[in-house]
Amino acid sequence: MQLHWHRRDLRVSDNRALAAAADDADSRGEVVPVFVFDELILEHGAAPRVRYMLDALAELRERYRDRGSDLVVVRGDPSTLLVDLAEEFDAERVVWNDDYSGLAEERDEAVRAALSDAEVEYDSFCDQVHHEPGEIRTNAGDPYSVFTYFWKKWRDRDKADPYPEPEESELASIDEDDEIPTIDELGFEEPEADVQTAGTEAARERLATFCDDAIFRYEEDRDYPTRDATSKLSADLKWGTIGIREVYDATEEAKNDAGSDEAESVEEFQSQLAWREFYTQVLYFNQSVVSENYKEYQNGIEWNDDEEGLQAWKEGKTGYPIVDAGMRQLREEAYMHNRLRMIVASFLTKDLLVDWREGYDHFRALLADHDTGNDNGGWQWAASTGTDAQPYFRVFNPMTQGERYDPDAEYIKSYVPELAGVDADTIHSWHELSDADREDAAPDYPAPVVDHSERREEAIAMFERARGEA
Ligand code: FAD
Repeated sequence: MQLHWHRRDLRVSDNRALAAAADDADSRGEVVPVFVFDELILEHGAAPRVRYMLDALAELRERYRDRGSDLVVVRGDPSTLLVDLAEEFDAERVVWNDDYSGLAEERDEAVRAALSDAEVEYDSFCDQVHHEPGEIRTNAGDPYSVFTYFWKKWRDRDKADPYPEPEESELASIDEDDEIPTIDELGFEEPEADVQTAGTEAARERLATFCDDAIFRYEEDRDYPTRDATSKLSADLKWGTIGIREVYDATEEAKNDAGSDEAESVEEFQSQLAWREFYTQVLYFNQSVVSENYKEYQNGIEWNDDEEGLQAWKEGKTGYPIVDAGMRQLREEAYMHNRLRMIVASFLTKDLLVDWREGYDHFRALLADHDTGNDNGGWQWAASTGTDAQPYFRVFNPMTQGERYDPDAEYIKSYVPELAGVDADTIHSWHELSDADREDAAPDYPAPVVDHSERREEAIAMFERARGEA
């Protein structure tokens, strides 16, 4: 027998380690699929992600049951449990797909040591990304810290085909009694947010719908939150309910059917998949970015300790309508449109002058798609502390952003009911109105907590001091 240890790969199709074990079933024995609820990893979890994970696991188990097998579910320390399970199933090898965060790497190191001691073989595979960290390097042999060059090499490199699903005969015929724990039993409350449907079937539907239509207008429409022009695959890719090769193949197919403008749009989408891999390698080679600036400033940045402003931002009550709509989408859906993530992150760091780590922690607590590399990369970009960072002197104007990307205030009104009856022009000039006019238009919606023009100047001065220029 062999064990396949599922982690961020909650699927049976296009799963590299699972396919490799299945391929060896004749010589090494059938595959027993396993999931371990690891207490240490759960400590870093959050309700929306645990909800998504549990739903995806329930579907995964059904898929194995349909194939005459089952998913073994255990709870505790994987380095002990995998050794015990190897013994119980008389497994000669344990396989898994690589995960590139520091926490995962520590866990895997302990598992490798325990399996070695118990004389159980193990093997791990690159599955989460097309090109594993370190595969794409500069001509001098260094990992890339600038996306554009990384992207050119990423785009031009061959991509593997999706890996085949295991045959029924390659999976162990087992029947497990242990129930998957409930969210309660794992120590989390049901999330407030309405988390999107989890699992491979839902992910495949999202991919098919996207590749039918929106992918061809992605380049033009992706920044407009009401145009429904993005894939919404981020949580699926985070949890691996769909394989990255399957996603890429579907986009290539769309590209083959497309005219030249549409093909460019498909390529724009593919470059977002490359951003994901870029940030995965940034994290892999710079694990300290989870808590430290990627880019050092000579004097350090004197962030503002503004608890009240931070709280208003978290609650979506800053008095900047587009910012508040984004923050409320996050709370309601455990998701936020990319343009909005950029706007709210800029607002926290450049208008409230609050440390990006506060925002990152809040996103980590509420996003179903929180991915350490992408989340951190996004935050440090906005805070002008990351790779390819937004230059410190370029500060998003939240009112202009709202006007440009949500001209009819449709997105704003759908998340900020206090403004539902207010016309778009009034919403987009909220910061310029008198208190009496604001009171008249929407008495329950707050006045701006800060003056953007003043704060923009302060932000630039703060960064100049950090650079030793003031
Ligand atoms: P699409 O536009 O359809 O993109 C397809 C996929 O490409 C995404 O699912 C994602 O896997 C990847 N992708 C897209 N944009 C980016 C990007 N800028 N960086 C890296 N990968 C990208 N993305 C996450 O997956 N998890 C996060 O925790 C996360 N936090 C972010 C925080 C901030 C402050 C910012 C500015 C961005 C963050 N992003 C994060 C990136 C991006 O906002 C989301 O991936 C995207 O909004 C998800 O929606 P989608 O699947 O419809 O995206």
